Amino acid sequence: MLNKIKIDKPKVSGKPSPRVGVIGGGPGGLAAAARLAQAGITVDVFEAGAELGGLARSISLWGREVELSAHIFRSSDDFVNNLWSECAGELMEISLRRGIYDGNHIIQYPMTPYRILRNLGIADTVRSVIGLGVGRVSNYWKAEPANAEEWMVRRYGRPLHERFLRDYAEKLWGVPCSQINAGFPQFLFQSADDSKDGEQSFLYPRSGNSALWNKLGEQLVSNGVGVHKNTRVSQVDVVSNTVTGLMANETQYKFDHVISTMPLGLLARLTLAPNAKIEASASVLKARSTVLVYVLAESGSHSDFNWLSIYPAHFRVGRITDFGQWLNADDGRTVYCLEYWCDRGDELWNLSDDAITTLAMSELNKTELVGDVAAIESHIERLPGTHPVFSLESQAAIDAINAGLNDVEGLSTVGRHGSHGVLGMGESMEAARQLADRIVADLSSA
Ligand SMILES: Cc1cc2nc3c(=O)[nH]c(=O)nc-3n(C[C@H](O)[C@H](O)[C@H](O)COP(=O)(O)OP(=O)(O)OC[C@H]3O[C@@H](n4cnc5c(N)ncnc54)[C@H](O)[C@@H]3O)c2cc1C
Repeated sequence: MLNKIKIDKPKVSGKPSPRVGVIGGGPGGLAAAARLAQAGITVDVFEAGAELGGLARSISLWGREVELSAHIFRSSDDFVNNLWSECAGELMEISLRRGIYDGNHIIQYPMTPYRILRNLGIADTVRSVIGLGVGRVSNYWKAEPANAEEWMVRRYGRPLHERFLRDYAEKLWGVPCSQINAGFPQFLFQSADDSKDGEQSFLYPRSGNSALWNKLGEQLVSNGVGVHKNTRVSQVDVVSNTVTGLMANETQYKFDHVISTMPLGLLARLTLAPNAKIEASASVLKARSTVLVYVLAESGSHSDFNWLSIYPAHFRVGRITDFGQWLNADDGRTVYCLEYWCDRGDELWNLSDDAITTLAMSELNKTELVGDVAAIESHIERLPGTHPVFSLESQAAIDAINAGLNDVEGLSTVGRHGSHGVLGMGESMEAARQLADRIVADLSSA
């Protein structure tokens, strides 16, 4: 366990222990703090919210813990896996039965061209097979795809792209696929392709993910880490291009190094002197938001699938999770979570709770997931800035901001928005562990 790990005080003879401030108490910030504390560095974590866990925290609903959508943990990093299993408490194995709803049928994951084609009529199948062949063959003569649309057309052919994939990608990103970086449809579609076993399972903390983050928070505190909840960092102090500390809730803290998991554009605005280029770059880095509609309903799943992606554009909902198996409750009820992607302040974001619940219930009942369901209760969560959007201009903006931030000695960024990437929680923790290792090496040799 973290609190049993031998603390190796950095070998900086005659000097006080180096101090690191971590902005954000999500998976990335907590993993970085754990690794630094393990190495004997003095650490403080600042979390703007009331709870640890960031976007991966659970919420309590109707006497049960549910996640902000499914939140499936995976990592191949030993440190991250040990941290996870030591803090998770009792684990349950959840069988993940993923499907894609195409408006008529549910297609089983992993999504393969064959599984898509099997559900099309003869005319569509012939068109799609020809399109698939053309898409694949044309790879040999063309340069790298310039955007997400080109990537999808090459991999799946134009007919499948237009009939099947485009609407889902555009629902998520909120802009045409031709304006999204070519690297990003892989995140949506290819990882499923790569997994060849139809039925997947994952381990889930019986008391919900937040039990894990809270336990990790307690262990950090018992190792001397300052964990400051409800504490928003409003300034990173830089003197002569070197970090000297930060300001949080009107209090000044001194640090030798600051790690930030907050959105990259916001950090640039807090840290770098105002200038037109940084402002222009920061404003390019946008993030989609998510509205989650939770529905408590009778009698658990009526479907073979508990995690469904809803592809067609005439459904506003993007994903439906049936938490039946996740829940540590045996009262014949389940919780469905419908995921709506939008922009903060747009028409969907501003729908009243009643209106979005009505929309969600009508869409839930239109799919084949549950049959006819009546909500016993419902609950809405509006989450701003959940999915960093990787537009065609994003990489140049990230490079410009990183060039500015790299000139600041003692400042590092990591995590989902820290990298402006759509990282999973395991990936965010792994990147944070690697960063912490580099900082320990630097501070120990300084
Ligand atoms: C709907 C949805 C479904 C998902 N499903 C999965 C899944 O199935 N599997 C998976 O692995 N991942 C999933 N994820 C992604 C997962 O939530 C993230 O990978 C993970 O939370 C990233 O951790 P992080 O620490 O990098 O960032 P975050 O979780 O975003 O944490 C950053 C923290 O920094 C805090 N912060 C920001 N600004 C400040 C400031 N100025 N001062 C102090 N604190 C600040 C925030 O409050 C936040 O708590 C999902 C995400 C969403 C939105």
